[in-house]
Amino acid sequence: MFSPFQSLLDFGAEPAPPPVTAAAAPPAPRLAGPPLRVGILGSGSGGNAVVVESGTHRILLDAGFSARELAIRMRHLGVDPLGIEALVLTHEHQDHNKGADGFAKKYKVPVYATEGTLAGTRLRDDVVKSARRIRSGEPLEVAGFRIEPFSIPHDAREPVGFVVEDPLGRRVGLVADLGCRTSLAWGRLRDLDVLLLETNHDLDMLRNGPYPWSLKQRVAGRHGHLSNREAAEGLPELVNDRLRWVALYHLSRTNNLPALAAAAIGEALDREGSAAQAVVTGQFHPTPWLEVTS
Ligand SMILES: [Zn+2]
Ligand SMILES: [Zn+2]
Repeated sequence: MFSPFQSLLDFGAEPAPPPVTAAAAPPAPRLAGPPLRVGILGSGSGGNAVVVESGTHRILLDAGFSARELAIRMRHLGVDPLGIEALVLTHEHQDHNKGADGFAKKYKVPVYATEGTLAGTRLRDDVVKSARRIRSGEPLEVAGFRIEPFSIPHDAREPVGFVVEDPLGRRVGLVADLGCRTSLAWGRLRDLDVLLLETNHDLDMLRNGPYPWSLKQRVAGRHGHLSNREAAEGLPELVNDRLRWVALYHLSRTNNLPALAAAAIGEALDREGSAAQAVVTGQFHPTPWLEVTS
């Protein structure tokens, strides 16, 4: 590692004399490591997928686009799809698993999912054979990351959110497709550096929008999706000094506007005095990398 002391030696100068006082040595510099990077390939009811990268390790959370589209979007962020080591699914809805089978097959990637999600996902036999079962509350190691799945309330068989921790202790939380905040989920989403938080709809837009009544009930129900307001109300509990990014995730194109979601979350972060940046994710293009460098 470069230091002024080292540079003097390199140039043949006298090394600095040792300190004459007994003052405590300065703290050792924190070991520099590769950045943790989160690449949201797309998000919304038309497809969700996220690459998490630390050093040489890369995993994919959800595969809600075709295998071909996933690869195109990865390359857009400079990621070689052959370098993905695992695919971890949140639940079996099409906007999260559309490309799971094709991607796992083509790039020989093991699928990690709950029993319920696996049962609800169409996978060919050899992909199922190499799949690994995960359970809420049972952390596991996946491609160098520690993954902690936790149950969330949603109208799927066995849906989960995740905390993903890299070898340097940087933590990413993903909580989307949930009808309401729960103490279980919020208890897990602690000490995060990056939070991917569902801001699905604006309640007034949903109420006055074109959806049939039954669908409005489903979206707003306890097993549906999280509104901007519910996300903003849940944010103070999750704010901490190390939180760098809050990605506004799974926005409805019918019942939300990026500006409304950004205003709700931005105001909540301001009220907490947080330096975290709110970033709106989109359906059609990858979001530029969210990086954590220390
Ligand atoms: Zn979804
Ligand atoms: Zn869903």
